[in-house]
Amino acid sequence: MEGEELQHVFAKRIKIGQELELFFEDKLYLCLLEKLNPKGAFCIVIKELELATPLPFITLYQCVPVELKTVDFIVERVSEVGAYRLVPTLSKRSFQNITAINKRMERWKRVALSAFKQCKRPKPLEIAPPTRLEELKADADLNLLLDNFGGEKSLKDLNLNGVKTVSLVVGPEGGFTRQESELLRERGFIPIKLYPYILRSETAALLGVGLIMNLSTPP
Ligand code: SAM
Repeated sequence: MEGEELQHVFAKRIKIGQELELFFEDKLYLCLLEKLNPKGAFCIVIKELELATPLPFITLYQCVPVELKTVDFIVERVSEVGAYRLVPTLSKRSFQNITAINKRMERWKRVALSAFKQCKRPKPLEIAPPTRLEELKADADLNLLLDNFGGEKSLKDLNLNGVKTVSLVVGPEGGFTRQESELLRERGFIPIKLYPYILRSETAALLGVGLIMNLSTPP
């Protein structure tokens, strides 16, 4: 280990002979610290840790806020509350520049990695390639659209028992256009209203994911 990882070893005061968890090439390992010096740390792998990912697997289709920085916050918070995957989604009123979005992807992956370490998830939040709202399909077990205008149902009206996959669409700062909201409903997304006020996009994403995880019955 070098660089930032090595700094964690020093910050956490891990001593030679102590165990530590390492995430390497998409896998989590239980390791033993063997050697430590200011330039690097050497570890022996004891075993691979296979932690179960809690159900349901939530894919958050987050319409990209005009203030791109807001996505950093969303990535961090939805990692903590249990989203499985985030798909940056382009809608009529979202940030539109796909090149700029692609440039931020590495940064969002780094934010996801550091959130994963902090909250002890089994895996970092997956950041999927960007997509367009009109390409979304209702192909999960449960497909939801957070809609502060037309949502009649509340999350607690839904039966989440046995639901393994959820797609959740959240609008940008300016919300969805009427056509977008209608298109998603026609495709089978259920419009949901969060009680009681209108939330910022990032608050809606965080609350939506957190409520779905907590209303779902653990297996
Ligand atoms: N001015 C926008 C409008 O009137 O539609 C407000 C949009 S809100 C700031 C951003 C997004 O967060 C919405 O498109 C929706 O997806 C979600 N949202 C915010 N408050 C919500 C609520 N109370 N219920 C459901 N979704 C909500």
